Amino acid sequence: MKQIYLDNNATTQVASDVLEAMIPYFSDYFGNASSVHAFGRDAKVGLENARETCAEILDAEPSEIVFCSGGTEADNLCLKGAAHALKAKRNRIVISPTEHSAILQSAEQLEREGFEVRFVEVSPIGIVTTEALAKVVNENTAVVSIMQANNEIGTVQNIAELVEVAHDKGALFHTDAVQAFGKIPVSVESLGVDMLSLSAHKIYGPKGTGLAFVRSGVKIESLVQGGSHEKSRRPGTENVPGIIGLAKAMESSVALVQSEYTRLNELSSTFAKNMLERIADVTLNGPEFTEGAIPSLPIRTPQTVNLSFAGAEGEAIILSLDLEGIAVSSGSACSSGAVDPSAVLLAIGQTPELAKSSIRFSLGRHTTADDINHVSEVLPKIIERLRSMSPAYAKARR
Ligand SMILES: *Cc1c(COP(=O)(O)O)cnc(C)c1O
Repeated sequence: MKQIYLDNNATTQVASDVLEAMIPYFSDYFGNASSVHAFGRDAKVGLENARETCAEILDAEPSEIVFCSGGTEADNLCLKGAAHALKAKRNRIVISPTEHSAILQSAEQLEREGFEVRFVEVSPIGIVTTEALAKVVNENTAVVSIMQANNEIGTVQNIAELVEVAHDKGALFHTDAVQAFGKIPVSVESLGVDMLSLSAHKIYGPKGTGLAFVRSGVKIESLVQGGSHEKSRRPGTENVPGIIGLAKAMESSVALVQSEYTRLNELSSTFAKNMLERIADVTLNGPEFTEGAIPSLPIRTPQTVNLSFAGAEGEAIILSLDLEGIAVSSGSACSSGAVDPSAVLLAIGQTPELAKSSIRFSLGRHTTADDINHVSEVLPKIIERLRSMSPAYAKARR
């Protein structure tokens, strides 16, 4: 059976050029980048070249790049690190309710430490406006953290104008750009952010590697204690092969960003349109698709299609598609057997019931029109079958 992977927002396959670039750093150049001998110097050269590549792609300086273990750590480091450094002066943290759990839970931890956490309101498609942000940012605000692109519904924020609201009050601004990078242009210069998070495994790089951009002059406290690696902002021997892979993955993603945006946007909008036409009671969560190339102010990423199928249970849809060799995910977190509705969908005003009937299809570099056609054929039958087993749905339809 042909396998179709539509869960690229969860993780991606390592690209062959990335793997190839990494291999010598496991074998030939295995040295510790902190060692002074030739082995260490070889690793150090690779590490610093990778840092320059990453910095250049983001319009940053090499000294502003802090390599770490991925998006989760970068989010923790930026939010908690900057909050801790400002603790004596500012006490408020502002985030959106649609943030990744790495930000949500970091904010919860800061709350336990005595910080005041405020949530900015989001629109029914997940947009944060400057007006909404201005209501919760004040002179006591240490850090504002709002993601550039949402992982579940694809909403893209106008970060540059939100940054101005934060800076007006002297607050720092962090953005989680894990789902934005490689899908739309990401530049710390045009965004104006003070801090930004990236992860390699969402862009065809290896798992366990990522970076935090921390603008020169912005103080962050390290989360862990140890050596003076990464200018003491992230102690621990650097994962040189992973970092080489991250830099290569960033290079390739940026080279493909324009063509992949247009291609994936076309596939995604066709798929969404097919489903809305072929299946009754389907809703698209997040912004509508726009046609053509990347707009100057994108409002969604091109690869994410989040649909609610009223009367069909999300987990049942996932399992039925899996039996057909199709991999998708729900926006809901499955913990200890209980399925919680997605916090993102609840935050944009969906009912818990509909949120549990929602599926995220995330396309990627390897997704073809054939894949989309196949899923468009298979899915209506699955939904019909699941709905026929739901007395509640049948009753509501009568
Ligand atoms: C995947 C993801 C993360 C976490 O990145 P990891 O490298 O898996 O820790 C953070 N934020 C967003 C938006 C993500 O999609």
